[in-house]
Amino acid sequence: AKMAGKNCYRYYSRAMDHAVERRVHMEQELRGAWERGELRLAYQPIYRTRDRRMVGVEVLLRWQHPTLGTIPPSVFIEVAEQSGLIEVIGPKVLRAACTEAVQWPPGADGEGLFVSVNVSPRQLRGGELPTLVADCLRDTGLPASRLHLELTETAVIGDEMLAAALLDKLHRTGVKVWLDDFGTGFSGLSHLRQVPVDGVKIDKSFVADMQRDPDDLALTTAIIAMAHALGITVVAEGIEQEVQFDLLAQRGCDLAQGYWLSHPVSATDVVQLLEAGS
Ligand code: C2E
Ligand code: CA
Ligand code: CA
Ligand code: CA
Repeated sequence: AKMAGKNCYRYYSRAMDHAVERRVHMEQELRGAWERGELRLAYQPIYRTRDRRMVGVEVLLRWQHPTLGTIPPSVFIEVAEQSGLIEVIGPKVLRAACTEAVQWPPGADGEGLFVSVNVSPRQLRGGELPTLVADCLRDTGLPASRLHLELTETAVIGDEMLAAALLDKLHRTGVKVWLDDFGTGFSGLSHLRQVPVDGVKIDKSFVADMQRDPDDLALTTAIIAMAHALGITVVAEGIEQEVQFDLLAQRGCDLAQGYWLSHPVSATDVVQLLEAGS
């Protein structure tokens, strides 16, 4: 039994070494990935539910490595956050997105599409984000109203005073701030009173089951009603079926995003969609 235990320990220890090695390797590769042109931006269209017009896009980072292959953001964003690399990559994504979006033709009602950029909790540290955002807008010429930032619910919970001060500074640049993955952090809707955000994105885990799980439907309905009572925009993500879109539209959900509407696409495709009058 002792022997088995020892072997067992060795086995796990080796497996762990391997995982650590892979992580370290990935971190090293990620360090130069932007410069080598392995990172690119994908854009997932966001539609107004009322008339199903494309009104914006969410920017999603992609990493295609020559030997490691396609690495999903759920893996490499985590590595970037833990290593601090996100503080280098995040600003590049923001700048690239603004540079790209300013070149797009105006959409259906003459207004430019908004670009919604994910901001990791780590980028909120140090308080440099508002300056970075202001610099990006100035340098690229993108109107502030066309830039949205997606902050996770968990990033702003805990210190509401600090969060409120940061959001205030961000708002002074003219951008909009959305709470991403809303509902998962279990912060409760009462936080929306203290943290002045412009919108919430209902997490896709609630949308996924809403047509068969009464709890998820009730929760989604409550989020929409409460957000609207506070004058906050509601976006639903992860819509994969028409029935989900219909349920959300019936409840007055303002904006919709998901594979059923469109997968993430390239910048060229965004321009094509705009020119086709989507
Ligand atoms: P997220 O911000 O919640 O982004 C939405 C994710 O849902 C994206 O995954 C998107 O491709 C996926 N999605 C869109 N429609 C559907 C659908 O109908 N069904 C399902 N099941 N999924 C859908 P992706 O691109 O793999 O990104 C995963 C996460 O990585 C993002 O989650 C975000 O947290 C993070 N991420 C991606 N790009 C960036 C970035 O530039 N900066 C930061 N900080 N995080 C990023
Ligand atoms: Ca997001
Ligand atoms: Ca999300
Ligand atoms: Ca459920």
